[in-house]
Amino acid sequence: MRVLIVGGGGREHALAWKCAQSRRVQHVYVAPGNAGTALEPKVSNADIAADDIDALLAFAIREDIELTIIGPEGPLVAGIVDRFAAAKRRCFGPSRAAARLEGSKAFTKEFLSRHRIPTASFATFTAANFDAEYVRAQRLPLVVKADGLAAGKGVVICETHESAIAAATAMLGGSFGAAGHTVVIEEFLNGEEVSFIVVASDRQAIALATSQDHKRRDDGDLGPNTGGMGAYSPAPIVSAELHQRIMREVIEPTLNGLRSDGNPYTGFLYAGLMIAEDGTPNVLEFNCRFGDPEAQPILMRLQSDLPDLCEAALDGTLSGFEVRWDARAALGVVMAAGGYPNQFRTGDPISGLDTAAGLPGKVFHAGTRAKDGQILTTGGRVLCAVGLGDSVGAAQRQAYALVHAIHWNLVQYRLDIGYRAIERESA
Ligand code: AMP
Repeated sequence: MRVLIVGGGGREHALAWKCAQSRRVQHVYVAPGNAGTALEPKVSNADIAADDIDALLAFAIREDIELTIIGPEGPLVAGIVDRFAAAKRRCFGPSRAAARLEGSKAFTKEFLSRHRIPTASFATFTAANFDAEYVRAQRLPLVVKADGLAAGKGVVICETHESAIAAATAMLGGSFGAAGHTVVIEEFLNGEEVSFIVVASDRQAIALATSQDHKRRDDGDLGPNTGGMGAYSPAPIVSAELHQRIMREVIEPTLNGLRSDGNPYTGFLYAGLMIAEDGTPNVLEFNCRFGDPEAQPILMRLQSDLPDLCEAALDGTLSGFEVRWDARAALGVVMAAGGYPNQFRTGDPISGLDTAAGLPGKVFHAGTRAKDGQILTTGGRVLCAVGLGDSVGAAQRQAYALVHAIHWNLVQYRLDIGYRAIERESA
């Protein structure tokens, strides 16, 4: 079979690499892909943007693609799965209606409270009904969120009432475009963050290996929020008991609620959770796709055939599917361009990739392109170096050996990815 992966980041490199390992797969196309996917055996890039649904569908028909897997949220929220389904092309991901779980935070908060799924208390405002007095009456800190997709930047944690009012006013005034025309203001939750990702097929779900990511740019989980500076799997905080609670209190009621609302969900479903001290799994957000960088370490551990898993979900036969995992831990360190997550440099040549290719582990590309025999940086997050090991600590050592082999001008990365898990291991 021929597979198409839509997207061009590290997650899509990992998805393409994993699909290419399937014996059933002849060839994998990635649209648009990056320099790393172009070099992968059995994989080639198609020069089509991830949000050009017409061109993607025409390509899938022309190349007789049997399975398309969507990486990023943009095309899902825009309805790519509905368009492929109407043309009888198999496409793994949620419909446009189900993808609102990521596309609109106001929709999701209302959905969560209606279905009694644990989440922070909240209120929703537009410019027409914004109420500064409501904000002043809330306990601090407060979290202000733009309703729509804002590339991970639409969340501001505010230590004062006036800064919360200012953040909301800026969003409502258009600082995030249409994404901020509605804002959600919610209670700040303490606890530890966990990513919980399942493959969903209507009411059935199979949990993927657990993982945890680091969203802040700097060591010690400090500095500005980013798309993610590293991730590891498994996440030792997710005990068997917590796993069960998350399935019972979050995943099952979410899938049942979507079904009863008339929007059954198929695809990767990512719950961003804040685990309270009493173990309550509060939903911070849903993503309607695989996480990046969680996909890289999780897929390093996946031993089952990925196209088989996606097809079982599309066929509704997920409950009979057994997913096999490498018992080892995997840990990925994101290498980012200087300046990221703000304005960042591009066009810097990357050295050391050949040396890294001779080391254990795997380097997934994100913001890279090939030019005149060199590989150049093109994005904020450039690479994700993933190590495997018998513990998270051992996986971390292997990942950093890769990182230390690679260099470009003003490269930045954290030195402590996985530290919480490693503290737990040594305790
Ligand atoms: P979100 O896009 O909603 O997941 O928010 C991005 C990040 O902001 C999360 O990963 C958390 O670190 C933080 N965050 C969001 N909502 C809350 C909250 N209610 N309490 C504490 N931190 C939050």
